[in-house]
This record gives sequence, structure tokens and C-alpha cells, in this order.
Amino acid sequence: MCFAALAEQQKPNILFIFSDDHSLQTLGTHNGRMKDFIQKHKVTPNLDKLAEQGMYFENSFVCNSICGPSRAAILTGKHSWHNGFKSNGHKFDGSQWTMPKAFQAAGYETVIYGKWHLSTTPTGFDTSWVLPGQGKYYNPDFRVNGKKNVVKQGYCTDVVVDMTLDWLKNKRDKNKPFFLCSWQKAPHRTWMPAPRHYTYLDNVDVPEPSNMFDNYGGGRNSSLKTQHMDLETYLSLQTDVKVTPPFATSTLQEIKDSVVQQPSCDKSTIGEFDRMTMEQRKAWDAYYVPRNEKFRSMNLKGKELIRWKYQQYLKDYLRCIKALDENVGRLMAYLKESGLDKNTIVIYSSDQGFYNGEHGWYDKRWMYEESLRNPFIIKYPGVTKPGSRVQQMIQNIDYAPTLLDVCGIDIPKDVQGASFKPILEGKSPENWRKDLLYTYYGRGAHNVASHYGIRTERYKLIHFPKTDEWEMFDLKKDKNEMTNLYSNPEHKGKVQELKKGLKGLLDKYDVEVDKK
Ligand code: CA
Repeated sequence: MCFAALAEQQKPNILFIFSDDHSLQTLGTHNGRMKDFIQKHKVTPNLDKLAEQGMYFENSFVCNSICGPSRAAILTGKHSWHNGFKSNGHKFDGSQWTMPKAFQAAGYETVIYGKWHLSTTPTGFDTSWVLPGQGKYYNPDFRVNGKKNVVKQGYCTDVVVDMTLDWLKNKRDKNKPFFLCSWQKAPHRTWMPAPRHYTYLDNVDVPEPSNMFDNYGGGRNSSLKTQHMDLETYLSLQTDVKVTPPFATSTLQEIKDSVVQQPSCDKSTIGEFDRMTMEQRKAWDAYYVPRNEKFRSMNLKGKELIRWKYQQYLKDYLRCIKALDENVGRLMAYLKESGLDKNTIVIYSSDQGFYNGEHGWYDKRWMYEESLRNPFIIKYPGVTKPGSRVQQMIQNIDYAPTLLDVCGIDIPKDVQGASFKPILEGKSPENWRKDLLYTYYGRGAHNVASHYGIRTERYKLIHFPKTDEWEMFDLKKDKNEMTNLYSNPEHKGKVQELKKGLKGLLDKYDVEVDKK
């Protein structure tokens, strides 16, 4: 091996494991409302182990809490306004600078398997096998290097990791370091579990959040009442909760006809049914048909119906996370077995958080904690102290500059995130951010009004431009964000200070907002 190749090989590899919509409440290592339940039922033991071996960021946030925009922010290190992908439905401009392009130019082999969701063909990757659009849980299609579609039999989460492992074992150029993305669809709506997990958690009750029956009082903004993401009205009994006719003996039309049409209805369950093999349909029916018969016999109404829907939604969501976690375990086992663990940085993150019944919701988008925050675990062998927990605030625009910094690759000046390499090394940089900017460009599928705001270590200020409503929360005293302090005279000074901070951030990042 020549000297240059040896030097290249010594650069750390990166395995970036990413999921879609994984909330902190459902991550065992996080000190959230469901921690005891998640740990007791071993929902995320492999992710928790990764946190014990690496570094867990207790205060990790996104700049725009929705799938495509978060991915675009990660790839570019820039706020949505600057990378151009402000909301789902946009097309990512792959001609702009991105982190994978920088790794590729620096001699890394760059690869992505799994969910992309940016509409255009991935650029900056030597190899890409990505799910078209949202992708499917069962027997998914993959778009190969932007050229052809290939169907892979099996459960998506398993298939993505099968391909990731096959690449690591058999396909990579062993003379080059790698930047390898294993980006999962799970646990995205409509939360379709692997057959081996249908009965997992069947006989237990998932804890309910204290604000599941939120009445949107407390002086909060009026658009809370007009969203389309509450469990009662917008969690479809058929497509989301799967009270459908039997899959093995029904026609596609019968399944379609069973769906009550409503705004924000996600019909992907029907598409999944259409892809399943007869064996998969029978396995599905063996669990869901008796469950649905029992449900019909109970004739639930009102709050009891909402509670039942919540239980079914959460169990399917957690089942999807269980498969994700098992596959994290498979990846980690191979890294260890191959010795790659010694020089591979492993990251686990998700594109945003999610509402698991908090405020009566599923979905994301809002600047409230459950969707503003996302998981971030990193294991950097020889650098991150095992089991360390970081309090400093990081944001998804920081990932690109950090990873490039760690690998000794130049960071373009217009990248807006900051490198937290010193934090990985156990240092406390003096000028590290004490606040961050959030922007959501509405209204999107769930009718969430455009808003933006500032989040400091203790407070949050949000503005809804269309109605010119403001919200201010003291997160220390009101972690569920139920009481708006904006008009409270006691907090007048704090509000002024936050407004000044928010203006400063808008100027710093040169970001505009909209009034939808
Ligand atoms: Ca997402």
C-alpha cells in the first residue's frame, strides 16, 4: 500500500444511522416521560448501549421540524431559507454544495442506502439506493443511482441494513475511508411493523401523556385549534390504526372503500397492502383481524375511543422502533467483529422528534419541544468519553461542519452551522451557542401555520406572523408548554430580551419567514 493510501485509511470512517420521526420520549437513554416503560420493555437497548459507549446530546434540536427540510439542513449545514428546501413538496437543488460532496472530494467513498425524500437524485454519493418518495415498509422499491428501480423482498428496515452490511463486507474500496449513510424510513407514519413484532407489547398499556386531552387554553395561539393532527379527528381509524377488512381475503377496492376520507389522511397503508405477499397478508391478519373484531365489539366512544387509538398508534410506532433498534445492533455487531469499530465514527439521529399523544397529537412541525428536539448519539472511538452526556445545545445544521472538521476537511464560509468538535473532545467552548433559531414554513398537510422563534436554555419565544400572535414559555416551570407567558406583565423584560435575541438570529442567519 502506498503512503497516501495509508494516510487516507487512517482518516475516520463515518457510519451515519438516521431514522425518520423518532421521538426522544421513545428513546430509552433519554430522560423523558416514557423512559421507564421504554427500558422495561427493551424498546431501544442497542441505541441505549450506543449512548453508553459514546456521547449523548441531551439538548439536540432541528431548525425546521419536518422530513425533507431537516435532511436538506443536514446535507448543507444551512437553514431552510438558504438551502431552498423550506417544506415537503419542494425539490432539493442537488447542484449546491453538500457535506457528502465534500467527503467525496476529500477521497472518501460516499454511499447512501434508504430514505432520501428530497425529490431529486442524490448528488455527492458514489452509490445510492434510495426509497422513492416516502418509500414502503413491505418489499420496498429502491432507486439505484438515479437510474432504475429495483424491488427488494422483505421488511424495509431489515433490507436497508442488509444492503448496508453487504456493502461493508463485500463492496467497499478498502483503500478508502467511507461516509456511509444508512437512513431508515422507520418509524414514519403509517407505522407498519415487521411481522415478528406484531404481538410485541400487545398485553401492556403504553403510558399516556398528561396533556393528551389538551384544550389549547392557557392563552396560547389560535392555530392550535385548527391543526389537522389530533388523535381524535385526524388519526385515521383505517389507515393509521389499521381497522381495515382482512388483508388476505379482501380486494384492493374493498380496502380502499373502507377508508373514511378526511383531511391529512395518509393512504400508504393501502399501498403497502398491495405490495404484500399472501404470506405477509396472512401474518398481518393473524394479529390485526382478532384485534379489530374485539375493537368492534367494544363500541368505544369519546375519550375511550381516543385512548384506544392512542394505544394502537403508539404500539405500532414502538414496534417499528424495535426493528430499527435490532438493526442498529446488527450494524454495531459487524463493526466490532470486523475491527472497523476502532476507526469508525457512529452517529444515530432522526430528522426530528414527534408527538406521541402530547397535546393530543401525532406528527411534528411545531416548535414545541417534542418535535423541535431530536436524538443525537455519537461514538467517536478514542475521542468521545464513553457514557458522557452533553448539555450544550446543538442543531442539525451543525452536523456537516462538525463531521468535516473532525475529518480535517475544509468547511465553506457560507455554512451556517458550527462545529462541535471541541465538545466531542470533552471541552466547553466559551462562545458556544446559548440560543437557536427555528423556522417552519406552513401550512403543509397538517394545516400548521407558519411560525418561527428562538429557543434559549430556559425560554422559548414563538411568533405566528399570519395572525401576529406570540407565545413565550418558561421551560423550567412549564416543560409541557401549556401556559403562554407572553402577555404576563411579570415577564415583560424577558419577552423584550427574547425578541431582541430573535431579531439577532434572523439577522445573523439572514433568514426570511412567511405568513401562510
Ligand atoms: Ca421525519
